[in-house]
Amino acid sequence: MVNDLSFVRENYARIREAAADAAIRSGRKPEDVALMAVTKTVDPVLVNCAIDCGIRLLGENRVQEYQSKREQYNPEAQVHFIGHLQTNKVKYLVGNVTMIQSVDRMSLAGEINRCAEKHGIRQDILLEVNIGGEESKSGVQPEALRALLESVAALPHVHVCGLMTIPPPCEDTRYLEAMHSLFEQMKACGVQGTDMNILSMGMSGDFEQAIACGSNLVRIGSALFGARHYQ
Ligand SMILES: *Cc1c(COP(=O)(O)O)cnc(C)c1O
Repeated sequence: MVNDLSFVRENYARIREAAADAAIRSGRKPEDVALMAVTKTVDPVLVNCAIDCGIRLLGENRVQEYQSKREQYNPEAQVHFIGHLQTNKVKYLVGNVTMIQSVDRMSLAGEINRCAEKHGIRQDILLEVNIGGEESKSGVQPEALRALLESVAALPHVHVCGLMTIPPPCEDTRYLEAMHSLFEQMKACGVQGTDMNILSMGMSGDFEQAIACGSNLVRIGSALFGARHYQ
């Protein structure tokens, strides 16, 4: 059981202010940048405290963990799936989460399309880009993004709403800038049936820089809830 929730409130207030400042410095309004609480390993009591503070977006990494916690979440927040996703788990998400941010291959998009058709919905997704070209990471390679976008856009029950990335750790903002420029390029392509509105980029360590580089959705875990304890 968690007793003292004040650290979540304090962290939230600090993050919110820093994010608002970064938005204003980049010529946008604070409300143009969404703050997501990333919930992996976090007690639902703390997650609900973040929702009480004003968080309206939760990020889930693992299907099983999400299933075991979802009933306990305050339903005022929407849930996005942000973790690596196996095709055989898609059926547990479609119809439950409002967005799947981690779509990086056509086989996965195809399965989402199939499940969404069954539910009679169009599933919002983001395409995840491996902006650093790292071998160990998921995400489509930047060179292959345009082709994937066009293939996915042809699926009637999948709606591409933007891009997501987890850049490599880096001292400067080169990957954040590269990602923003890729986002602008894809937007300019105007691929029919897609709406390039969301750039999901930035975590606890780099959210202010990410906002400065054009991100409009930052995914915050440890800065909000403290260090994660994996069992
Ligand atoms: C864990 C995770 C985050 C949050 O990471 P922090 O550094 O704790 O803020 C953001 N995005 C994804 C995809 C994650 O898996």
